[in-house]
Amino acid sequence: MKRGTLNLGFLNGYDPPWGDRLVPRVQAVLPVDVDKTEIRIDLPRYYAADRRQYNATLILAGVLRAAPRNGARLVGITRVDLFIPVLTFVFGQAQLRGRGSVVSTHRLRNEFYGLPADEGLLVDRTVKEVVHEAGHTLGLTHCPNFECVMHAATFVEEVDLKTERLCGACQALLEVAPPEPDEVQSVRSGPRTPARPAPPSGAARPGPADPAPPGDLASGRERRPQG
Ligand SMILES: [Zn+2]
Ligand SMILES: [Zn+2]
Repeated sequence: MKRGTLNLGFLNGYDPPWGDRLVPRVQAVLPVDVDKTEIRIDLPRYYAADRRQYNATLILAGVLRAAPRNGARLVGITRVDLFIPVLTFVFGQAQLRGRGSVVSTHRLRNEFYGLPADEGLLVDRTVKEVVHEAGHTLGLTHCPNFECVMHAATFVEEVDLKTERLCGACQALLEVAPPEPDEVQSVRSGPRTPARPAPPSGAARPGPADPAPPGDLASGRERRPQG
C-alpha cells in the first residue's frame, strides 16, 4: 500500500544532471510515489561562519516552512556541508515519523576524499541516504543489519557497505506501521505536534564536553551518533 507522496526537493538551484535518476530508485524501495521538485530557502541564514558549514536542523526547519503543506513527505537535497552542533558533520537529518528530512551530497562525492569523480557512485550513495532519511519519516529507526539501508552510517565507507534496500525486518515494520496523521488528514490547519527528531548521521565531534547527540532518543536507543 502506498504511503503518500515523497518530494525530492532540490535546494536553491541545485540541479545535478542525475537528479531524475533518484526517482525510480527511491520509489522501488519505499511505498511512496516520488516526485522531484525545487525548493528555495534562505540558505545563507543557516551558515555557521566559525565552522564553514550549514546547520542541518535549521535547514530542515527552513525546508519544512518553504514546502507546500500538502501532506507530502519531503527530502531536501543540498550540496552544502551540514552539521549539528555536537557532530563534525552529518550526511542528513530527519524527523522520526514526521514530514521532513534533509540530505547533503557534500561528503558523498568522491572528490571530497581526494578521489576522482564517480557519478554512478555518487548517485548510489545519494539514493541510500535519501531512502534512509525518508525511512525515518516513515517511522523506521536504525537497523543493526549492515546491509540494510536503515543501518546508521558514520563514514562514507559504511554508506558503500550497505545496500539501498530494506532488510526483511525493516520491510515488515513498514508494512505494519499505522498511517501517520498526515495521511489520515492530508492538510492540517492548526499547529502540528512536533515530531521526534531522528538521530542524525555523522561523526562524533571530539571534545571534552560532548553531550549526548540532540537527536538521541529518550526511549533508550543507542547513543552513537546516527543518521
Ligand atoms: Zn533493516
Ligand atoms: Zn538515520
